[in-house]
Amino acid sequence: MKRINKKTALKLLRSSDLLSLGMTADKVRRKLHPKGIVTFIIDRNINYTNICINRCKFCAFWRNEKDPDAYILNKKSLFKKIEETIRLGGTQILIQGGLHPELDISYYVELLKSIKEKFNIHVHGFSPPEICYMADKAGFTLKKTIKILNDAGLDSIPGGGAEILSDRIREKLSPNKIGKDRWLKVMEEAHKLGMKTTATMMFGSIEKPEDIIEHLDAVRTLQNKTHGFTAFIPWSFQPGNTELVQSTAYSVQSKNALRSTPAYRSGRHHAVRFYAATAVEYLRILALSRIYLDNVPNIQASWVTQGLKLAQTALRFGANDFGSTMIEENVVKAAGVSYCVSKEDIIHAIRAAGFKPAQRDMYYNIIGLVVSG
Ligand code: SF4
Repeated sequence: MKRINKKTALKLLRSSDLLSLGMTADKVRRKLHPKGIVTFIIDRNINYTNICINRCKFCAFWRNEKDPDAYILNKKSLFKKIEETIRLGGTQILIQGGLHPELDISYYVELLKSIKEKFNIHVHGFSPPEICYMADKAGFTLKKTIKILNDAGLDSIPGGGAEILSDRIREKLSPNKIGKDRWLKVMEEAHKLGMKTTATMMFGSIEKPEDIIEHLDAVRTLQNKTHGFTAFIPWSFQPGNTELVQSTAYSVQSKNALRSTPAYRSGRHHAVRFYAATAVEYLRILALSRIYLDNVPNIQASWVTQGLKLAQTALRFGANDFGSTMIEENVVKAAGVSYCVSKEDIIHAIRAAGFKPAQRDMYYNIIGLVVSG
């Protein structure tokens, strides 16, 4: 299939028939993954702290230092979580946290070294906002910071903090967070050092279709240059417990009530929604991602935000990966969304959708096809 341009992508996103779009995405998926295998990884999300100075409006996870439920994970708890992950067949930890005002690069280096001294486990960690924060505090370049972390034991970098790669949107959603260019720069520097990363997109808040295309195009353009993204993971904004829906202009519960607010009438409301993206919106964006990102090998279905049944449907709309079994997840849960599934549920869902389940590592190497379970 010929590569599509931004104009065609916008047209597809706005007006195409959902099933036709899904069939095209499925065709691309079958070409890239002809064996009918759907992968998953056994890993654990470990959030080392929820204290964060960025205070993004869409985030329900962050706390101030003085909040009663603010925390920094101690080593004993961290090691216990890793031991448990390995016992459950896990091969990786995803370690991420808030931007803590008291932590500097020596904390992260020591953390990584202590993990690697004790455990044989892949460390996928620290999203671009965390890496930029460490670099800025230390006065180091991004290249030097990533190299230091890599030498200390960081194996790969998750694509968190991307939300929508459009500065127009970022200024409204997360004005204290790094902009589009720095997010891309972290990924580029990591790729140049030979590290692999993922790319994500959080949609369904205040962006327009044009912003989604801008995001997809930024990922595709960098991937053309570096080939360092292993996967793309689109997921939808979860509005529960976030400032975006709690501020005065957003706290009303219906469109009509919203329309009567002075903020709406004066155009200051950002047209935020009170509900997560619908199933149709999710599938449409997932399918378009598969078609547009023809140079990114894997597209991940997000059962954590969409639930197992929709994630299963996503396998016919371009996705070929089920992501993590998520022994632990805290960030989406903080927004009030919690789908509880076991490894067996995931295996069953993949098989029931007509695919062969297989456990993988971060590089998408197959560790083993699941023959029973
Ligand atoms: S999304 Fe990340 S950077 Fe933003 S407030 Fe939450 S933890 Fe902090």
